[in-house]
Amino acid sequence: MPELPEAEVLRRELEREVVGKRVGEVEVRTPGVLQPWHRTRPDFAKQLTDGRVGAVRRIGVRLLLDLDDDRSWLVDPGPTGSLHVEAPDAPVKAPTHAAVRFTAGGALHLSDAGKPVGLRTGVLPTAEAEGEAEVAPGAIDLLADPPPWQDFARRLADPDDPLRVGLADPRRFVGLGDVSSDEILWEAGLRPDRAPSSLSAQEFRRLYRSAQEVLVAAMKASGSVLDDIDPDSPVDEDGTPAGHLNVHGRDGMPCPRCRTSILRTKLRRDVHAHHCPRCQG
Ligand SMILES: [Zn+2]
Repeated sequence: MPELPEAEVLRRELEREVVGKRVGEVEVRTPGVLQPWHRTRPDFAKQLTDGRVGAVRRIGVRLLLDLDDDRSWLVDPGPTGSLHVEAPDAPVKAPTHAAVRFTAGGALHLSDAGKPVGLRTGVLPTAEAEGEAEVAPGAIDLLADPPPWQDFARRLADPDDPLRVGLADPRRFVGLGDVSSDEILWEAGLRPDRAPSSLSAQEFRRLYRSAQEVLVAAMKASGSVLDDIDPDSPVDEDGTPAGHLNVHGRDGMPCPRCRTSILRTKLRRDVHAHHCPRCQG
C-alpha cells in the first residue's frame, strides 16, 4: 500500500515527468479499474486522449492530474496499486491494468498485483475528482499540512487507542500505514501498545518530531529506489532489508540501534506491530 512518503515522491516525479505533456495513446487491459466512472474503455480513452497535463496534485495518497478544461484524471491506487513512469515502448503486462502514452514520449503504467484489484482511475470534472479523492474529515496530512504538535497529540489521543493503532488510522492521519507507524514509534523510542493518555508532553513532542523525520527519510529512500523495487517492500532486490527500514518487516532481525531481536506483536485482529523491546521500553 502506498503510504504518504511514496505518494508524495510519486507526485513530485510525475510533476517532473508529465506536466506539459499531451496524452497520445490509452490502453486499458482491465475495464474494471474504470468503475464507477466509465462504462467502457473507449469512453475513458476518448476523455483522456489529447488531454494536456497542467498540474499534478495529491489528496491523501490519491493523485489528480489536472487537464486543460476543468477536468482531472484521478488515480486512486487503492490498497495495493501503484503508478509507474515508463518508456513509451515498455511492454504492458500483468499486473499493469492500464497504460497511457504521451505524444512527447514517456508513459504511465497503472499497476495492481492485489486480489481483488483495488486500483481505480477515471477522468472527471475537477470538482468531482476532488470530492472522490477526499480524505476523512479531520484527518491530518503531516507532509502537506503539518499542524502544531498539540493538534497532532489531540488527534492521536481521541480515542485513546494504542499508539500504533492511532497512528495507522486513516481517519486520523493520512497515509501513515503499517510501515510508517512502526518506524515512527521506533524512532521515538515508544512502545506500540502505549496509550496516548500515558504520554507526557515531552514524549508527544518527540513522537511528532520522529514522525516528521521518518517521513522525510522515507521520501529520500523511496525517491532513490522508486524505479527499482516496490517502495513498500521491506527488502532490497538482493534480499537484504531496505536501508531506510529499521523495524518494519524485520521480526527476528537485530535492532539497528541495540542488536536486540525485533518482535512482531498483535495489537488488534488486523494490526501487527514491529518493535524493539529494549529501545522502545
Ligand atoms: Zn533496540
